[in-house]
Amino acid sequence: MAAIALNRLVRAKASFYFSPISSSSSSIFRTSFSSETDPTHTTPSYENKPLLPRRDLKDRNVQWIFLGSPGVGKGTYASRLSKLLDVPHIATGDLVREELSSSGPLSQQLKEIVNQGKLVSDEIIISLLSKRLEAGDAKGESGFILDGFPRTIKQAEILEGVTDIDLVVNLKLREDVLVEKCLGRRVCSECNKNFNVACINIEAKNGIPGVYMAPLLPPAGCASKLITRSDDTEEVIKERLRIYNDMCHPVEEFYSSRGKMLEFDLPGGIPESWPKLLHALNLDEQEERRVAAA
Ligand SMILES: [Zn+2]
Repeated sequence: MAAIALNRLVRAKASFYFSPISSSSSSIFRTSFSSETDPTHTTPSYENKPLLPRRDLKDRNVQWIFLGSPGVGKGTYASRLSKLLDVPHIATGDLVREELSSSGPLSQQLKEIVNQGKLVSDEIIISLLSKRLEAGDAKGESGFILDGFPRTIKQAEILEGVTDIDLVVNLKLREDVLVEKCLGRRVCSECNKNFNVACINIEAKNGIPGVYMAPLLPPAGCASKLITRSDDTEEVIKERLRIYNDMCHPVEEFYSSRGKMLEFDLPGGIPESWPKLLHALNLDEQEERRVAAA
């Protein structure tokens, strides 16, 4: 089915930049970001009741997409949920990297694209994704969590012809917090580990919930060797956000209009956000069982 769908897809122009240097799955794409995070808009509707109907997990499809601006930790949450739900976490950036390091049918073509610093087309990305989903289906995988795809309305339309999506989780973080957090990023020049020196502690005010995010401080050995990436300036970060917002807004509308969108305002870092996200997804019990079994 995926193969048929592919044929009627895309003669799309490329919209991905592939950076061979990148090692993190989400930073592979040079496009993007948004955060509609207007502080006045934050309504934590997930506080009180779960947003998904309570159904046994075995009766439930997990064919999910995670959206969110770079910097919100989308990959981390997607990865944690994929472990909890026992479905693969599929990042299209990883698929490109895997194909590059293989002798697969597209690897030669990809190498040329990358060597020329060109964009990887939607067609190639979707082809890799279809192949991955078919392989998963054949292995009996019960679903997937897609991370960082689709990024454009065109990709969303293409994906529609390839597989059914039953939920899109859109992780949101206030823009002021996102900027502060990005400005706090540091990397150790010796061991290349990532840290974050920003300590975010915004109190709730006028009905807008507070946000708390602890810093991720380096051990003593790294502390004197921290550097800031040259593109982590306020100007660049805000521009990235603007571009992502422009591009992703139609994707959000696409899924909203189909009733598949779950907007989730992150209340802080992982310790603050994870339990609330599980609650919104109606997965509290899953987590309790997992913890009890561990
Ligand atoms: Zn270090």
